[in-house]
Amino acid sequence: MIATKTISRRDFLKLAGASAGGLAAMAALGHGFKTLSASEARQQQEAGKRVVYTACVMCPAECGLAVEVENGVISNIYGNIHVPYNSGTVCAKGVSGLQLVYNVNRIKYPMIRVGERGEGKFKRVSWEEALDYIATKLIEIKQKYGAESVIMDCGDVTDRDPYYYLFRAFGTPHTVEHGSICDTPRRHGPKLMFGGKRIEPDIMRPVLVRQPDGSLKNDYSYRTRLIIYVGWNPFTATRINYESRGTVEAKLAGARIIVIDPAFSNTATKADRWIPIRPGTDADLFAAMLRYILENHRDDDPFRRYIDWSFKEYSQGWEEFEAAFRSWWDRKDPLNGLPYFSLEWAAERTGIDAQTIAELAHTFGITKPAALVWGMNGIGHHYNGYTASILGTALNVITGNMEVPGGAIDTELVKSSKGGKASGGDFLKREVTRIVNGREVKGKIEELHMDGYGDWPAAWDDVVGDYPRRFIEGVTLRYGPFRGHRYPIKAYFIRTGNPVITGSNTQKWIEALTAKDETGNYKVELVVYIDTVFLETGLYADVVLPEASYMERMSLSDIYPVHPVLYLRDFVIRPMYESKTQYEICWALARKLHEKGDPDIQPKDFWEKYPTEEDFWNEALRVAPGRPNTGEPLPYPNLPKGYKLLGTPDSLEAGRVQIDDEKKEIRGEPLTVQWLREHHGVAVWPMSWKRFHGGGVLQTDSKKVEFVWDYTVEKDGQVQRKGRYAKYNKLIEEAGETPPSIARLGWQKYPSTFYWFETRWNPYTNPDYAKYREEYPFQVISGRIHHAMSGTQMVDWLGRLPTEDLWMPLNDERVVEEVILGENGPTPTGRRVRIPRGTWSIGVIQMNRADGERLGLKTGDLVELETPQGFKTRGKVVLVETIRPGVLRLPFGGGGRFSPGLGKTWAFQDITPNHNALVDPENLSPIMGQPAYGDVIVKVRKLG
Ligand code: SF4
Repeated sequence: MIATKTISRRDFLKLAGASAGGLAAMAALGHGFKTLSASEARQQQEAGKRVVYTACVMCPAECGLAVEVENGVISNIYGNIHVPYNSGTVCAKGVSGLQLVYNVNRIKYPMIRVGERGEGKFKRVSWEEALDYIATKLIEIKQKYGAESVIMDCGDVTDRDPYYYLFRAFGTPHTVEHGSICDTPRRHGPKLMFGGKRIEPDIMRPVLVRQPDGSLKNDYSYRTRLIIYVGWNPFTATRINYESRGTVEAKLAGARIIVIDPAFSNTATKADRWIPIRPGTDADLFAAMLRYILENHRDDDPFRRYIDWSFKEYSQGWEEFEAAFRSWWDRKDPLNGLPYFSLEWAAERTGIDAQTIAELAHTFGITKPAALVWGMNGIGHHYNGYTASILGTALNVITGNMEVPGGAIDTELVKSSKGGKASGGDFLKREVTRIVNGREVKGKIEELHMDGYGDWPAAWDDVVGDYPRRFIEGVTLRYGPFRGHRYPIKAYFIRTGNPVITGSNTQKWIEALTAKDETGNYKVELVVYIDTVFLETGLYADVVLPEASYMERMSLSDIYPVHPVLYLRDFVIRPMYESKTQYEICWALARKLHEKGDPDIQPKDFWEKYPTEEDFWNEALRVAPGRPNTGEPLPYPNLPKGYKLLGTPDSLEAGRVQIDDEKKEIRGEPLTVQWLREHHGVAVWPMSWKRFHGGGVLQTDSKKVEFVWDYTVEKDGQVQRKGRYAKYNKLIEEAGETPPSIARLGWQKYPSTFYWFETRWNPYTNPDYAKYREEYPFQVISGRIHHAMSGTQMVDWLGRLPTEDLWMPLNDERVVEEVILGENGPTPTGRRVRIPRGTWSIGVIQMNRADGERLGLKTGDLVELETPQGFKTRGKVVLVETIRPGVLRLPFGGGGRFSPGLGKTWAFQDITPNHNALVDPENLSPIMGQPAYGDVIVKVRKLG
């Protein structure tokens, strides 16, 4: 029986405080959303309604929610006012989660494939049958090829720990998540230099701050004077919820907002200035800004005092970095004959005039506090995004903007720790034996990793974009103790992800998942798809398992706050149909593996150790907040400075702690699920700034900001090699073999400081591609839309909404046969459904009006895009003034939330462009193998 809840679309939009104008505007106006106050929550409970504090997953921002439940059915979704990250707001998409939870197209039962992969033919089976099938196959594969032949891809959304735990215990080093195909170049600079990940502006409010009188108070003040967003569109892309609210508030408080993006995004609509840069040239812009700042800084001139030299107190290696950077200044770019990083050079390449670049550098240098922030669809999607994120990080550091109030914050370094032993990392340290070239070799499980010890040694987030090749060719380890070991990939588990569409080139993924060996069997012998909704990749699975929706399971959220905040995803309702939680799925599979004699799955590690789901998550909470008592104002002035904090906020506040001087730890009462339930689902520890000083939160070898990444230090008469690249360079030197990805750049190992290389498929910056300029005159980029990450195309309310001229109600009239997800997979119901013209939003191709008119096109015309390699996609064009000429923008993954059974959008698959059909499968960025989604050039042909 499907529980239903009926709300009209008008009521839905009213509830979200929005008009049909799109989600961005809704997200921007935080005060437009319905918030449930503490007293209202109490009133609801008194009226017989339950309010459960949990976390959203309708997008990866994971806002805190207060969900009202009546008679076991969700009746309303509100923001949780106690979670400072979203501060009580919930957007229209969050409210529409009702239609995802109570959707007829959820996966309801385990299913096993009966047709060929891709045909979508399945039969319903019991959990017992499904798990038996999987466990039998896993044990067979392990015995024949080793556990390393199994990949567990935990996909797009959160709540991954039970999967990590099970598969690491099983013995595979391949437990991965979508981050590796999302934005690794974007994160590279902060990782190298801070041990962090993402730089965000200090605009999350409120923040809990220690006052001079010793009390703790919420601080709502916005001190930022300038934010420069580069290829970053938080008003649509979400993930960092507070950025849309905070940007508006910061602007109202006097901050200047500059957006640099080829397209006039929703974020650009709120900016003081939009600078339409040429795609793939962000590194050029940053290099010119850095050169300008270095050449024009004057200590004695307050109008040109760009550099705050105090950064040297908490950094090392600047001299080497600066020298390597300056060494390029006298060289001439072969493409334009101009000196590297000069204003004229950057103007030629970026398409931004030299005066504007100089103004930008000056403004950023002189305005403090400020934040330079870059995003995933920009820098994160280019082959050379690494150079851009390194330069951007350096710019934030030398101008003194890191970690100052109103400046820039690396959220990875300051958010609460979680996971700990519940992530199963200890299992990867176990010793295993393999026969390599006839020799018995011992090593750790982690040393069997196909990237870290294979083709991509510095790919600490794995190389999912390269999976299709490994599925077909197998793996050869090049480094570490198992050098020379070869193994095939035989099992692929994908959970809440859709790599066929989002994991680089679509066609290559399909070829790899359907490739057969000489005996006619699939090369990858087992493909398991686990999700609440049925996406395209599910069509290629042998077994489909229904995972409980985000309202029916438990875990923890900690999404990029500027100080430690951790909140609970709790059971709002019981899992529907036959779906199971992650813990239930993993523990049931563990029991099955144990029954069948798998030696690595032991009761003491599973049901004896964590007999309930709550026990498991309590283990994950044990390491919270796990950050040092550091910064200004000191979070806990009565506790030792610099010591790691562990435990609930109230126990630390009251001093109910044990202090371990040897480990430099302060241990309060451990945080638990129960504690969170008793405190509105959330734990909030105090904010402070200047957390880089004296080591603070930095996660580098030197506990300083590092501008060098392979260096030596002497300790106790011993020379030690340090820095983020040192480990990989040691492996390379021991093996005497350069990884192919960096050999292509002419390097023998990873550089020890500043480096530079050009992006690919860019005729305006890379001489190798200049010949394509005339025939392939368009660069293709992508933009986020409201359908992202969670399969929301099956949500009817969201199906009608447009996003940024990228997802528009441009459907033609069609009468289609309804297909729903039944017991045997996608099943036609026989019912004919008329979809009137202009009533359903579909992915489109955004094109500059002048370009379109020159080609004789008008909005709504169907075109085909083709790359020099012959990759094609098709869609309707929308002509706008709000994109740089010569650039086309497609919705990212917008073609990816498809599958028969996912609502009306599937009916328009033939005219919905798929960005990833165009991506060069070999164009994986050289350091970490991120697919270079943003380096694509095409010609355009009108169809019909
Ligand atoms: S921003 Fe994302 S996580 Fe937050 S309420 Fe909206 S959909 Fe949910």
